[in-house]
Amino acid sequence: MKYIKSILFLVLSITQISFAGGWVVGGGEIMGDAVNPWFLNNNPDIKYCVVIDEANFGLSRSEAESITKRGIDFWMRQFKGQSGWGQDFILSKLNFALESCKPTTDLKLQFGLIDLKQMSQLPDLDRKVAVSVRTDYDRVNMRGKGFIYISPEKGPLALSGPQIETKAWSSSKGLLTLMVMIHELGHVFGLSHNSVSLMDENYVEMIMTPGLLKFFKDTNFESELENYDVFKIARSASNLKTEMCMGMVVSEVLRNGKKVHQLSNGIGPRTSVLNAFFGIDFEISCYGQTIGFENGKYILDVTFGTNKYSQKETVRMEQIIDDSAYRHLTAMLKIFLPKEQKVLPGVNTAYYGKIEKSVTFRSKVYDKINNVYRPVIVTMYNDRSATVTTEFQGKIYADILGQM
Ligand SMILES: [Zn+2]
Repeated sequence: MKYIKSILFLVLSITQISFAGGWVVGGGEIMGDAVNPWFLNNNPDIKYCVVIDEANFGLSRSEAESITKRGIDFWMRQFKGQSGWGQDFILSKLNFALESCKPTTDLKLQFGLIDLKQMSQLPDLDRKVAVSVRTDYDRVNMRGKGFIYISPEKGPLALSGPQIETKAWSSSKGLLTLMVMIHELGHVFGLSHNSVSLMDENYVEMIMTPGLLKFFKDTNFESELENYDVFKIARSASNLKTEMCMGMVVSEVLRNGKKVHQLSNGIGPRTSVLNAFFGIDFEISCYGQTIGFENGKYILDVTFGTNKYSQKETVRMEQIIDDSAYRHLTAMLKIFLPKEQKVLPGVNTAYYGKIEKSVTFRSKVYDKINNVYRPVIVTMYNDRSATVTTEFQGKIYADILGQM
């Protein structure tokens, strides 16, 4: 166990878990040299098809179709939300229609099925949870074709390498499949790794970590997903609130000579700096944080708790009224324009969409023991984590929560 990082109830930031050393499963993507979206508004009608090995995959055909549709709807909702600066977002007009698979089908969803040609081009397939592969690209019209493959639970194509949740698809009633689908579709839409938290390069492997499924169920992750706004921090319809105080640790351990990841409750060491700064009068052994946006103000709630959660207390840090927050924006999509293209006016690279990378605001913490307010600067990140910067007892803390 060389490295441990806690995830502290960041419902949507599973990407907070970090690993040291090499995780044997690859990112799972073969995108060639191009990460352009497969489809753009210029050619908005897209046909997709679904094939499934129902005996081995772990879900039925109708479940697979429903997950595919929900994945597509998830992204289209995001892209429509990116319109509104006087022009449509470059992916906002896509229409997807299901058909039976033909050579002309634009996007093929393969649940546990792969053909020999595809297999010969995908090494280590038994170690990949999922891949998205663009097989053709028309540079003039900037339109691609390809497939998404998701591995089955059992049968000859079942994963043999990594340590993952057993019966991941059937035991989650498709929730994990949906999360994987959303990630892979993100690649189809041209989102590169680490552009948003769902596109973290380790995302697919991470959500399959044994034990995390319970966490997703406990936190009602599925409904969070329906309300989730990928591009805005803390301004989803739902503010990702949770009452639990919990800490989780993913550690890397050796099992049968293989490096695997193990999830456990993580209890941090006693910390007097946090007690003193936040005015908490019991011994803090874990904390969780929730970011939000209410009545025009950004909010960070940090809940401190004891070991068995018998005691807990939430400290609210709210944006100071009439003080503007600093939003660090970045482009969601970077599209490389081939020389041959006839879609967009002649530039080399085009940027689209606005992602909030971080939001920084001033706030204060009330210490009820000493009856004082302490100024802080809160920064909330796209992955739903947050830092609290402050000065305390003559020391500057870039993130005082890091004293945990
Ligand atoms: Zn990926």
